[in-house]
Amino acid sequence: MMKRILVFAAHPDDDIIGCGGSLAKHVKLGNQVSVCYMTSGEAASLDYSKGELARIREGEARNAAQVIGFQDLTYLRNSDGYLKYDQSNLKKLVELVREKQPHIVYVHHQSDGHQDHRIAFQLVNESLGRASASLFQEYKGAPWSTEAVLAYEVWTPLSDFEYVEDISEFIDKKTAALRKHESQIKSIPYDEAFEGLARYRGAITGKGKYCEVFKVIKHLTCSRRGFRPARATFSYASASATALVSVCLRGFPVSERLNFGLPLFFFGRRGSE
Ligand SMILES: [Zn+2]
Repeated sequence: MMKRILVFAAHPDDDIIGCGGSLAKHVKLGNQVSVCYMTSGEAASLDYSKGELARIREGEARNAAQVIGFQDLTYLRNSDGYLKYDQSNLKKLVELVREKQPHIVYVHHQSDGHQDHRIAFQLVNESLGRASASLFQEYKGAPWSTEAVLAYEVWTPLSDFEYVEDISEFIDKKTAALRKHESQIKSIPYDEAFEGLARYRGAITGKGKYCEVFKVIKHLTCSRRGFRPARATFSYASASATALVSVCLRGFPVSERLNFGLPLFFFGRRGSE
């Protein structure tokens, strides 16, 4: 079954850095990828005026998306460096989620060192909860509940994670897409940094030569077989629907809860139990 994927990125290039390999995999599988940029990254260079850089970076995002193979981009054009958790952004995100009806959402992780990245997580996390319920009459669209939410790493690598994606087949695409962000690469070699990180993730997890790793913020499928530790994998990539994640709730003390009661889960792969 075709899956709809929605990525939230604070800035153009965060989507490629955090999950570009996974997005290339989704495209290959026939899944539909949409990306929403919260800002246009106009504060990320002193070489251009803000207006000029915003236009350049939106164009770079389009070029990078073309390399990966998706076209559906939304620019919310918040002020770069000043992303706000406010009523206006919550409404935009709730309505975007209801419009796009994603099965899987990717977003920054909540402990990233960049303030805009952390605010993006908070906005998206809250919006997904609000989008799923008929609680606020000011939001347009029918309630939509997203199946899975994965948090990716950009500025601050994750200290722990539950899901690993083997992107070996797509690392060249990811790096080529990253190089489309020319205004950024010329000051910091992000292409080398994140190819190196993917290799590190692959070597440490043993899941593939190059990997991307994620915090699992939400998954709904529950296993009957008890607790499984972190590092197990699930695969939306599998042709078999039964290969999707199984989450273990029984006996697991849910110590952390996000808004609207979305617990942080650990999970195992059903097929390996
Ligand atoms: Zn960013």
